[in-house]
Amino acid sequence: VSLFASVELVPGDPILGLTEAYNADSRPDKVNLGVGIYYDEQGRIPLLDCVREVEQKLAADAKPRGYLPIDGLAAYNLATQKLLFGTHSPLLEAGRVATSQTVGGSGALRIGADFLKRALPNAKIAISNPSWENHRVVFGTAGFEVIDYRYYDNDSHGLDFAGMLADLGALEPGTVVLLHACCHNPTGADLSLEQWQQVVALVKDRGLLPFVDIAYQGFDVGTEADATAIRLFGESGIPAFVVASSYSKSFSLYGERVGALSIVAADREEAKRVQSQIKRTIRSNYSSPSTHGGALVAGVLGSDELRARWEQELGGMRERIHALRAGLVSKLAELGAPEFGFIQQQAGMFSYSGLSKAQVDRLRDEFGIYAVGTGRICVAALSQQSLPKVAAAVYAVSR
Ligand code: PMP
Repeated sequence: VSLFASVELVPGDPILGLTEAYNADSRPDKVNLGVGIYYDEQGRIPLLDCVREVEQKLAADAKPRGYLPIDGLAAYNLATQKLLFGTHSPLLEAGRVATSQTVGGSGALRIGADFLKRALPNAKIAISNPSWENHRVVFGTAGFEVIDYRYYDNDSHGLDFAGMLADLGALEPGTVVLLHACCHNPTGADLSLEQWQQVVALVKDRGLLPFVDIAYQGFDVGTEADATAIRLFGESGIPAFVVASSYSKSFSLYGERVGALSIVAADREEAKRVQSQIKRTIRSNYSSPSTHGGALVAGVLGSDELRARWEQELGGMRERIHALRAGLVSKLAELGAPEFGFIQQQAGMFSYSGLSKAQVDRLRDEFGIYAVGTGRICVAALSQQSLPKVAAAVYAVSR
């Protein structure tokens, strides 16, 4: 008998299962809004021009593939720091930030979680309710007790800011607080500048450790404005915080697994000690990151011209999402459902549509439109072509 005879089957990921069901659907006008990926107007994942150009240069001058250092490509890490903390950040000038290239934003979260579990063995982590499902899984697997703080108000389709402040204010000092820098996944509800200022002050006063996840930098307002939370923590005088970042969306490089973990420490010497621990954590997981994706990002960000082109292409993705939100809201209003106006206030790829599980089931069964059971739709997977059909279907199931 096999030694694995008693291994249990783990149920499949519900969001990936949705895509399988979508692929098996034979209706020609089906629409998949369950994904977490930006598609262009033609329904393709874009290959950015700036990326293509670096890729062609790399191919024309093909290099041997040695290992990268444990913490990745130095040029990639430096460019990432500037993008996150600001080109002239005093934190960077003081040598307080330890950055490592990681296997996507997910890898940054996991390496960060493993490091924190070792450094602060008794700390809990608080995540927003709701949050990206993997947050709970990653920190739970790293051994953390995961607790929730209030975040989203179903009735107003916006932030429950009073609830958020109350819950954060009641956390034990030393608790890690996971915060979405922008484009909150799954709700699309973000904090205003004034709200961020209040959260930063509270986190500092209470002695909490902020862990900022930024996976959609540039998808709401722009690369600088979307880093506001990081900049505010940087200016706050707080001794330490953590940032997990991802280029999956902003460079449309999902499968290249390009992310980074940045730990801000009290001073240069502390940052060195922290980085030695991070390197040990990486070494014992996957040893070192892969070369290609990091070289693409570093190639773009290291050239003024390509960097400007990237900002432009990213702006194009951002503006298309804004136009799709506006279009969806105005079509629904025309049909007689003005109550969906909140979709235009939400930020990033996702919207909590407010549709119930039963309504999401009807969207799929009657119209071939796939959304997550929580009502999360990926606005970035709509197109001007699919918009009228989606609006009509949402109207139909909401009546
Ligand atoms: N954080 C959030 C909030 C995300 O939505 C995602 C990706 N869906 C990630 C992190 C992970 O990004 P990556 O795909 O680069 O691992």
